[in-house]
Amino acid sequence: MNEWKCPKCKKTVDCHPGTSRRDNKTKICSECCTDEAIFDFQVAQAKQKKKIFPENFIALEKEWLKEVN
Ligand SMILES: [Zn+2]
Repeated sequence: MNEWKCPKCKKTVDCHPGTSRRDNKTKICSECCTDEAIFDFQVAQAKQKKKIFPENFIALEKEWLKEVN
């Protein structure tokens, strides 16, 4: 696999790209895919426990997409 730059973490990687859960089209590295999955899991858990997950934290998670589009 050729090296490519992940738009999310800005690292040059050679892993297989995955599709971001944030827009369902941008290709990101496997590390970022895992991060998104963990983030979504934490949000789901916080909602289940009726804990409020900080809005700015969720907004920050999508911040990198502004540079992509
Ligand atoms: Zn990445």
